[in-house]
Amino acid sequence: MLFYFFIFLIPLAIWIILHLVSKREGEESAPKVLLEECALCHEEFPMDELLEKEVGGYNRVYCFCGGCIEQLYREYQAEIGQSDPKRERTGKSTDGP
Ligand SMILES: [Zn+2]
Repeated sequence: MLFYFFIFLIPLAIWIILHLVSKREGEESAPKVLLEECALCHEEFPMDELLEKEVGGYNRVYCFCGGCIEQLYREYQAEIGQSDPKRERTGKSTDGP
């Protein structure tokens, strides 16, 4: 009867050990957040805080952080505000024949 006892016990022990090992590995890998570098400020951020954009024709994907995107938007707004489209129209000469 002891033989049958070991037949059941050994696979069960192996299963428990494997289960504990895989669980420990899962716990170790879980807190690791995949960090990616921002293409503009070169600071590392977790992927869910970055915007991935394909830049150029080389299938190269760059990541941009929220702060850099906001700064780009502000710079864009400042530039758009400086070059007023109405100013170009007033420079048009109205010389008649
Ligand atoms: Zn950035």
